[in-house]
Amino acid sequence: MHGTKALAEADRLMVVCNSCRYCEGLCAVFPAMELRRAFPDGDLNYLANLCHGCGACYDDCQFSPPHEFNVNVPKIFAQVRADSYRAYTWPAALSGLFDRNGRAIAIIAALSVAVFAIGFVALDDPAALFASHGGPGAFYALMPHGAMAWVFSAAFLYAIVALALGARNFWRDVAEPFATLVEPRPLRQAVTDACQLRYLGGGGVGCMNDEESRADHRRLFHHFTFYGFLLCFAATCVATLYHYLLAREAPYPWYDLPVVLGTVGGIGLMIGPAGLLLARWRRDPEMADEARFGMDAAFIVMLFLTSATGLALLALRDEAAMGLLLALHLGVVLALFITMPYGKFVHGIYRFLALVRYAKERGAMAAGHSEAG
Ligand code: SF4
Ligand code: SF4
Repeated sequence: MHGTKALAEADRLMVVCNSCRYCEGLCAVFPAMELRRAFPDGDLNYLANLCHGCGACYDDCQFSPPHEFNVNVPKIFAQVRADSYRAYTWPAALSGLFDRNGRAIAIIAALSVAVFAIGFVALDDPAALFASHGGPGAFYALMPHGAMAWVFSAAFLYAIVALALGARNFWRDVAEPFATLVEPRPLRQAVTDACQLRYLGGGGVGCMNDEESRADHRRLFHHFTFYGFLLCFAATCVATLYHYLLAREAPYPWYDLPVVLGTVGGIGLMIGPAGLLLARWRRDPEMADEARFGMDAAFIVMLFLTSATGLALLALRDEAAMGLLLALHLGVVLALFITMPYGKFVHGIYRFLALVRYAKERGAMAAGHSEAG
Protein backbone atom coordinates (compact mmCIF):
# COMPACT_ATOMS: atom_id res chain seq x y z
CA MET A 1 0.00 0.00 0.00
CA HIS A 2 1.26 3.47 -0.87
CA GLY A 3 0.48 6.82 0.73
CA THR A 4 -0.86 8.45 -2.46
CA LYS A 5 -2.07 7.55 -5.94
CA ALA A 6 1.05 9.18 -7.42
CA LEU A 7 3.30 6.94 -5.30
CA ALA A 8 1.34 3.85 -6.37
CA GLU A 9 1.73 4.88 -10.03
CA ALA A 10 5.45 5.59 -9.51
CA ASP A 11 5.82 2.07 -8.09
CA ARG A 12 4.14 0.61 -11.19
CA LEU A 13 6.43 2.60 -13.49
CA MET A 14 9.57 1.59 -11.62
CA VAL A 15 8.62 -2.08 -11.98
CA VAL A 16 8.18 -1.60 -15.75
CA CYS A 17 11.44 0.38 -16.04
CA ASN A 18 13.33 -2.15 -13.93
CA SER A 19 12.35 -4.83 -16.42
CA CYS A 20 13.20 -2.67 -19.43
CA ARG A 21 16.33 -0.75 -18.32
CA TYR A 22 16.67 0.97 -21.69
CA CYS A 23 17.26 4.34 -19.99
CA GLU A 24 19.97 3.25 -17.59
CA GLY A 25 22.56 5.59 -19.13
CA LEU A 26 20.39 8.70 -18.95
CA CYS A 27 20.63 9.92 -15.38
CA ALA A 28 21.10 8.90 -11.75
CA VAL A 29 17.50 7.71 -11.32
CA PHE A 30 17.77 4.50 -13.35
CA PRO A 31 21.01 3.13 -11.79
CA ALA A 32 19.52 3.89 -8.35
CA MET A 33 16.31 2.12 -9.37
CA GLU A 34 18.27 -0.94 -10.53
CA LEU A 35 19.63 -1.40 -6.99
CA ARG A 36 16.10 -2.12 -5.81
CA ARG A 37 13.55 -4.87 -6.26
CA ALA A 38 10.79 -3.21 -4.23
CA PHE A 39 9.81 0.45 -4.01
CA PRO A 40 8.50 1.61 -0.64
CA ASP A 41 7.31 5.23 -0.38
CA GLY A 42 10.60 6.54 1.06
CA ASP A 43 12.59 5.12 -1.88
CA LEU A 44 10.10 6.50 -4.41
CA ASN A 45 10.40 9.95 -2.81
CA TYR A 46 14.18 9.59 -3.03
CA LEU A 47 14.06 8.62 -6.73
CA ALA A 48 11.57 11.40 -7.52
CA ASN A 49 13.83 14.00 -5.88
CA LEU A 50 16.82 12.60 -7.76
CA CYS A 51 14.95 13.25 -11.04
CA HIS A 52 15.54 16.63 -12.70
CA GLY A 53 12.50 16.30 -14.93
CA CYS A 54 14.64 16.66 -18.07
CA GLY A 55 12.17 14.55 -20.06
CA ALA A 56 14.83 12.45 -21.83
CA CYS A 57 13.31 9.16 -20.65
CA TYR A 58 9.87 10.24 -21.89
CA ASP A 59 11.26 11.09 -25.32
CA ASP A 60 13.09 7.79 -25.54
CA CYS A 61 10.42 5.52 -24.11
CA GLN A 62 8.75 3.02 -26.41
CA PHE A 63 6.04 2.54 -23.74
CA SER A 64 5.03 6.19 -23.34
CA PRO A 65 1.41 7.19 -24.22
CA PRO A 66 -0.48 6.17 -26.29
CA HIS A 67 1.11 2.78 -25.49
CA GLU A 68 -1.06 0.86 -23.05
CA PHE A 69 1.79 0.75 -20.48
CA ASN A 70 1.38 4.53 -20.24
CA VAL A 71 4.92 5.12 -18.95
CA ASN A 72 5.50 8.79 -18.12
CA VAL A 73 8.27 8.98 -15.54
CA PRO A 74 8.85 12.80 -15.55
CA LYS A 75 5.19 13.61 -14.97
CA ILE A 76 4.59 11.10 -12.19
CA PHE A 77 7.88 11.96 -10.48
CA ALA A 78 6.96 15.67 -10.65
CA GLN A 79 3.73 14.85 -8.79
CA VAL A 80 5.54 12.65 -6.24
CA ARG A 81 8.14 15.39 -5.66
CA ALA A 82 5.50 18.07 -5.11
CA ASP A 83 3.64 15.82 -2.65
CA SER A 84 6.92 15.14 -0.84
CA TYR A 85 7.57 18.89 -0.38
CA ARG A 86 4.22 19.13 1.35
CA ALA A 87 4.83 16.02 3.48
CA TYR A 88 8.23 17.24 4.76
CA THR A 89 7.06 20.77 5.66
CA TRP A 90 8.01 22.20 9.03
CA PRO A 91 5.86 23.07 10.85
CA ALA A 92 3.37 20.61 9.37
CA ALA A 93 0.51 23.06 10.04
CA LEU A 94 1.91 25.27 7.23
CA SER A 95 2.00 22.49 4.62
CA GLY A 96 -1.19 23.97 3.12
CA LEU A 97 0.98 26.83 1.77
CA PHE A 98 2.08 24.42 -0.96
CA ASP A 99 -1.52 24.40 -2.21
CA ARG A 100 -2.32 27.47 -4.30
CA ASN A 101 1.33 28.35 -3.74
CA GLY A 102 1.43 31.11 -6.34
CA ARG A 103 -1.46 32.99 -4.75
CA ALA A 104 -0.10 32.50 -1.20
CA ILE A 105 3.32 33.87 -2.13
CA ALA A 106 1.84 36.82 -4.06
CA ILE A 107 -0.29 37.81 -1.03
CA ILE A 108 2.66 37.48 1.40
CA ALA A 109 4.90 39.56 -0.92
CA ALA A 110 2.26 42.30 -1.34
CA LEU A 111 1.68 42.48 2.44
CA SER A 112 5.42 42.57 3.08
CA VAL A 113 5.95 45.50 0.67
CA ALA A 114 2.99 47.34 2.20
CA VAL A 115 4.34 46.86 5.75
CA PHE A 116 7.70 48.38 4.77
CA ALA A 117 6.11 51.34 2.99
CA ILE A 118 3.73 52.02 5.90
CA GLY A 119 6.59 51.45 8.38
CA PHE A 120 8.78 54.05 6.63
CA VAL A 121 5.97 56.60 6.86
CA ALA A 122 5.18 55.71 10.49
CA LEU A 123 8.83 55.87 11.59
CA ASP A 124 9.61 59.10 9.80
CA ASP A 125 8.09 62.14 8.20
CA PRO A 126 5.73 60.85 5.41
CA ALA A 127 7.43 63.28 3.02
CA ALA A 128 10.75 61.43 3.59
CA LEU A 129 9.37 58.50 1.57
CA PHE A 130 9.36 60.68 -1.55
CA ALA A 131 12.43 62.83 -0.80
CA SER A 132 15.98 62.37 -2.14
CA HIS A 133 18.51 60.90 0.30
CA GLY A 134 22.09 60.71 -0.90
CA GLY A 135 25.40 59.38 0.46
CA PRO A 136 26.33 56.79 3.09
CA GLY A 137 23.51 55.96 5.50
CA ALA A 138 20.81 57.18 3.07
CA PHE A 139 18.77 53.97 3.47
CA TYR A 140 18.78 54.31 7.25
CA ALA A 141 17.03 57.68 7.04
CA LEU A 142 13.95 55.58 6.26
CA MET A 143 14.57 52.61 8.54
CA PRO A 144 17.24 52.38 11.26
CA HIS A 145 19.98 49.86 10.46
CA GLY A 146 19.38 48.02 13.76
CA ALA A 147 15.69 47.45 12.95
CA MET A 148 16.54 46.33 9.40
CA ALA A 149 19.22 43.91 10.66
CA TRP A 150 16.90 42.52 13.31
CA VAL A 151 13.96 41.90 10.92
CA PHE A 152 16.08 40.20 8.24
CA SER A 153 18.20 38.16 10.68
CA ALA A 154 15.02 36.82 12.33
CA ALA A 155 13.44 35.94 8.95
CA PHE A 156 16.64 34.32 7.69
CA LEU A 157 17.10 32.32 10.87
CA TYR A 158 13.49 31.13 10.71
CA ALA A 159 13.96 30.04 7.08
CA ILE A 160 17.16 28.15 7.94
CA VAL A 161 15.51 26.31 10.87
CA ALA A 162 12.39 25.42 8.82
CA LEU A 163 14.49 24.23 5.87
CA ALA A 164 16.79 22.19 8.12
CA LEU A 165 13.84 20.47 9.81
CA GLY A 166 12.26 19.76 6.41
CA ALA A 167 15.59 18.25 5.31
CA ARG A 168 15.61 16.11 8.44
CA ASN A 169 12.12 14.84 7.56
CA PHE A 170 13.32 13.91 4.06
CA TRP A 171 16.38 12.12 5.41
CA ARG A 172 14.27 10.15 7.88
CA ASP A 173 11.76 9.22 5.18
CA VAL A 174 14.47 7.76 2.93
CA ALA A 175 15.85 5.92 6.00
CA GLU A 176 19.43 7.05 5.51
CA PRO A 177 21.65 7.34 8.60
CA PHE A 178 22.66 10.89 9.58
CA ALA A 179 26.30 9.74 9.55
CA THR A 180 26.14 9.69 5.71
CA LEU A 181 25.96 13.49 5.77
CA VAL A 182 29.47 13.74 7.19
CA GLU A 183 31.08 11.13 4.94
CA PRO A 184 33.53 13.14 2.80
CA ARG A 185 33.36 11.11 -0.43
CA PRO A 186 29.57 11.13 -1.05
CA LEU A 187 29.43 14.73 0.09
CA ARG A 188 32.21 15.78 -2.29
CA GLN A 189 30.61 13.90 -5.20
CA ALA A 190 27.17 15.41 -4.49
CA VAL A 191 28.61 18.95 -4.34
CA THR A 192 30.37 18.38 -7.68
CA ASP A 193 27.21 16.95 -9.31
CA ALA A 194 25.04 19.76 -7.92
CA CYS A 195 27.44 22.54 -8.97
CA GLN A 196 27.62 21.11 -12.50
CA LEU A 197 23.89 20.21 -12.61
CA ARG A 198 25.24 17.00 -14.02
CA TYR A 199 21.96 15.23 -14.70
CA LEU A 200 19.79 18.15 -15.80
CA GLY A 201 20.25 17.70 -19.52
CA GLY A 202 19.47 14.00 -19.56
CA GLY A 203 23.00 13.69 -18.10
CA GLY A 204 25.12 10.60 -17.85
CA VAL A 205 25.87 8.96 -21.18
CA GLY A 206 22.55 10.21 -22.49
CA CYS A 207 20.44 8.82 -25.30
CA MET A 208 19.61 12.11 -26.98
CA ASN A 209 21.76 13.28 -29.83
CA ASP A 210 22.22 16.98 -30.66
CA GLU A 211 19.14 17.12 -32.88
CA GLU A 212 16.93 15.41 -30.34
CA SER A 213 18.18 17.25 -27.27
CA ARG A 214 15.85 19.85 -25.82
CA ALA A 215 16.43 23.46 -26.74
CA ASP A 216 15.00 24.97 -23.56
CA HIS A 217 18.52 25.49 -22.06
CA ARG A 218 17.27 24.77 -18.55
CA ARG A 219 20.75 23.78 -17.45
CA LEU A 220 22.22 27.13 -18.57
CA PHE A 221 19.45 29.15 -16.93
CA HIS A 222 19.75 27.12 -13.72
CA HIS A 223 23.43 28.03 -13.67
CA PHE A 224 22.64 31.75 -14.11
CA THR A 225 20.09 31.51 -11.30
CA PHE A 226 22.21 29.47 -8.89
CA TYR A 227 25.43 31.44 -9.25
CA GLY A 228 23.55 34.76 -9.46
CA PHE A 229 21.88 33.91 -6.14
CA LEU A 230 25.24 33.00 -4.57
CA LEU A 231 26.84 36.27 -5.76
CA CYS A 232 23.94 38.32 -4.36
CA PHE A 233 24.27 36.46 -1.07
CA ALA A 234 28.03 37.14 -1.08
CA ALA A 235 27.30 40.86 -1.70
CA THR A 236 25.05 40.94 1.38
CA CYS A 237 27.72 39.18 3.50
CA VAL A 238 30.46 41.61 2.38
CA ALA A 239 28.19 44.61 3.05
CA THR A 240 27.52 43.26 6.56
CA LEU A 241 31.25 42.94 7.19
CA TYR A 242 31.78 46.50 5.87
CA HIS A 243 29.14 47.77 8.28
CA TYR A 244 30.27 46.00 11.42
CA LEU A 245 34.05 45.67 10.90
CA LEU A 246 34.85 48.82 8.90
CA ALA A 247 31.99 51.04 10.12
CA ARG A 248 31.12 51.84 6.46
CA GLU A 249 27.44 52.38 5.78
CA ALA A 250 25.48 51.51 2.62
CA PRO A 251 24.93 52.58 -0.09
CA TYR A 252 28.43 52.05 -1.49
CA PRO A 253 30.01 53.47 -4.66
CA TRP A 254 29.49 51.50 -7.89
CA TYR A 255 33.10 50.16 -7.92
CA ASP A 256 32.97 48.78 -4.35
CA LEU A 257 32.89 45.00 -3.83
CA PRO A 258 29.29 44.64 -2.51
CA VAL A 259 27.97 46.63 -5.49
CA VAL A 260 30.07 44.74 -8.04
CA LEU A 261 29.05 41.35 -6.60
CA GLY A 262 25.40 42.42 -6.30
CA THR A 263 25.29 43.82 -9.85
CA VAL A 264 26.86 40.78 -11.52
CA GLY A 265 24.76 38.42 -9.37
CA GLY A 266 21.64 40.51 -9.97
CA ILE A 267 22.06 40.34 -13.75
CA GLY A 268 22.47 36.55 -13.52
CA LEU A 269 19.43 36.42 -11.27
CA MET A 270 17.36 38.17 -13.92
CA ILE A 271 18.56 36.20 -16.93
CA GLY A 272 18.28 32.80 -15.19
CA PRO A 273 14.71 33.11 -13.82
CA ALA A 274 13.47 34.74 -17.05
CA GLY A 275 14.85 31.80 -19.06
CA LEU A 276 13.49 29.24 -16.59
CA LEU A 277 10.04 30.83 -16.67
CA LEU A 278 10.01 30.72 -20.45
CA ALA A 279 11.18 27.08 -20.42
CA ARG A 280 8.48 26.19 -17.87
CA TRP A 281 5.86 27.98 -19.97
CA ARG A 282 6.86 26.07 -23.08
CA ARG A 283 7.21 22.73 -21.35
CA ASP A 284 5.28 19.89 -22.92
CA PRO A 285 2.17 19.61 -20.69
CA GLU A 286 2.30 15.84 -21.20
CA MET A 287 5.46 15.73 -19.04
CA ALA A 288 4.75 18.48 -16.49
CA ASP A 289 2.66 18.52 -13.34
CA GLU A 290 0.40 21.33 -14.56
CA ALA A 291 -1.43 21.54 -11.22
CA ARG A 292 1.83 22.83 -9.68
CA PHE A 293 2.57 25.49 -12.32
CA GLY A 294 1.81 28.22 -9.75
CA MET A 295 4.45 26.85 -7.35
CA ASP A 296 7.11 26.67 -10.07
CA ALA A 297 6.30 30.14 -11.41
CA ALA A 298 5.96 31.88 -8.02
CA PHE A 299 9.49 31.06 -6.90
CA ILE A 300 11.01 32.01 -10.25
CA VAL A 301 9.11 35.32 -10.27
CA MET A 302 10.20 36.07 -6.68
CA LEU A 303 13.85 35.58 -7.64
CA PHE A 304 13.39 37.81 -10.68
CA LEU A 305 11.69 40.54 -8.63
CA THR A 306 14.39 40.37 -5.94
CA SER A 307 16.99 41.08 -8.55
CA ALA A 308 14.98 43.59 -10.60
CA THR A 309 14.06 45.70 -7.54
CA GLY A 310 17.65 45.54 -6.25
CA LEU A 311 19.09 46.75 -9.55
CA ALA A 312 16.43 49.47 -9.84
CA LEU A 313 17.32 50.63 -6.32
CA LEU A 314 20.99 50.72 -7.28
CA ALA A 315 20.29 52.77 -10.40
CA LEU A 316 17.89 55.25 -8.73
CA ARG A 317 19.25 55.42 -5.19
CA ASP A 318 19.97 59.16 -5.44
CA GLU A 319 16.50 59.96 -6.80
CA ALA A 320 13.22 60.69 -5.09
CA ALA A 321 12.02 57.19 -6.03
CA MET A 322 14.54 55.63 -3.62
CA GLY A 323 12.09 55.38 -0.68
CA LEU A 324 9.45 53.47 -2.60
CA LEU A 325 12.05 51.28 -4.32
CA LEU A 326 13.62 50.45 -0.95
CA ALA A 327 10.20 49.42 0.42
CA LEU A 328 9.63 47.33 -2.70
CA HIS A 329 13.05 45.64 -2.56
CA LEU A 330 13.02 44.95 1.19
CA GLY A 331 9.43 43.70 1.00
CA VAL A 332 10.22 41.27 -1.81
CA VAL A 333 13.41 40.01 -0.11
CA LEU A 334 11.63 39.50 3.21
CA ALA A 335 8.80 37.61 1.48
CA LEU A 336 11.40 35.49 -0.34
CA PHE A 337 13.05 34.54 2.97
CA ILE A 338 9.76 33.80 4.75
CA THR A 339 8.36 31.69 1.92
CA MET A 340 11.56 29.79 1.04
CA PRO A 341 10.60 26.74 3.15
CA TYR A 342 7.10 26.70 1.58
CA GLY A 343 7.85 26.87 -2.13
CA LYS A 344 9.98 25.58 -4.95
CA PHE A 345 13.22 26.59 -3.19
CA VAL A 346 13.08 23.32 -1.22
CA HIS A 347 13.69 21.32 -4.41
CA GLY A 348 17.37 22.31 -4.30
CA ILE A 349 17.79 20.95 -0.77
CA TYR A 350 16.02 17.63 -1.29
CA ARG A 351 17.73 17.07 -4.65
CA PHE A 352 21.13 17.70 -3.08
CA LEU A 353 20.37 15.22 -0.28
CA ALA A 354 19.21 12.68 -2.86
CA LEU A 355 22.53 13.18 -4.69
CA VAL A 356 24.43 12.52 -1.44
CA ARG A 357 22.54 9.26 -0.99
CA TYR A 358 23.07 8.29 -4.61
CA ALA A 359 26.82 9.01 -4.37
CA LYS A 360 27.01 6.73 -1.35
CA GLU A 361 25.07 3.95 -3.11
CA ARG A 362 27.19 4.32 -6.24
CA GLY A 363 30.38 4.15 -4.16
CA ALA A 364 29.17 0.99 -2.41
CA MET A 365 28.22 -0.52 -5.78
CA ALA A 366 31.64 0.26 -7.27
CA ALA A 367 33.39 -1.19 -4.21
CA GLY A 368 31.25 -4.35 -4.53
CA HIS A 369 32.19 -4.73 -8.21
CA SER A 370 35.92 -4.26 -7.57
CA GLU A 371 35.81 -6.87 -4.76
CA ALA A 372 33.94 -9.29 -7.04
CA GLY A 373 36.50 -8.61 -9.78
S1 SF4 B 1 11.21 5.04 -19.35
FE1 SF4 B 1 10.50 3.55 -20.90
S2 SF4 B 1 12.31 3.09 -22.15
FE2 SF4 B 1 13.03 4.05 -20.25
S3 SF4 B 1 13.48 2.36 -18.84
FE3 SF4 B 1 11.37 3.00 -18.45
S4 SF4 B 1 10.11 1.70 -19.72
FE4 SF4 B 1 12.20 1.55 -20.52
S1 SF4 C 1 16.14 13.03 -14.80
FE1 SF4 C 1 15.29 12.99 -16.89
S2 SF4 C 1 15.86 10.97 -17.71
FE2 SF4 C 1 16.09 10.88 -15.47
S3 SF4 C 1 14.13 10.07 -14.70
FE3 SF4 C 1 14.01 12.31 -14.63
S4 SF4 C 1 13.05 12.90 -16.56
FE4 SF4 C 1 13.78 10.78 -16.81
